[in-house]
Amino acid sequence: MTWDPRLHPRDPHSGEFSRGTGWVRALSDQMATPVGSFRRGQQHVERTFGVSIPEAEVTSAPGPAAQMEHRSGKILINPGEVGRLERFRSLGISVGSAVGLPHDVWEEAGAHEATHLLARDHLTDEQQVEALRAGARAAGLPVPDDNERMFLSYGWSTQIEQESQMDYERGTGVLSGALSNYGSFGNHEALAEALTEYTLSPRPRPFAKAVGDHVLNVLREVRT
Ligand SMILES: [Zn+2]
Repeated sequence: MTWDPRLHPRDPHSGEFSRGTGWVRALSDQMATPVGSFRRGQQHVERTFGVSIPEAEVTSAPGPAAQMEHRSGKILINPGEVGRLERFRSLGISVGSAVGLPHDVWEEAGAHEATHLLARDHLTDEQQVEALRAGARAAGLPVPDDNERMFLSYGWSTQIEQESQMDYERGTGVLSGALSNYGSFGNHEALAEALTEYTLSPRPRPFAKAVGDHVLNVLREVRT
């Protein structure tokens, strides 16, 4: 856990800190905050898939409550924007509401953003498409026989993501019923929501189970 001066405005070079007590207290303080819940979500992903995920950074800039910046690969969390996560939850759009998990929106968000980083850093595009194929097959969904059509069917383009925005709110996306509605937002979100459900749910549904097993196999093969 890195020291976050925005949450703990104590001087890390002060006597209190260097005696070693400040660090311990800061850690336990922080774990009770949204940042701590978020970190726990990340840790579930790290344990499930055996990868390590960089810490999130806290921001107060207007925008999503949590996001991965694609260019830098940084995860940003904005505790002031919790309303957005609560709304997803209340509309039944998130993994937690889809599979009846206990209500901790920050933990869910932490797991979700961690899976984006996992995909970015540990999977090729081809492996991501193969994981989605496995999930679609397991859930009885149509599986396009080439990657280009896979991209088009399940999103993965800005235009299609914008067009499908209403679908996930109404629950009419192509993956509805098989995955959280947010997973219909595009291929990246389908993969992230599947891996989040795989990580957090004690009984992931067939789509998430197949995607998660596939990714786990890919990662094991890389290690051996
Ligand atoms: Zn996402």
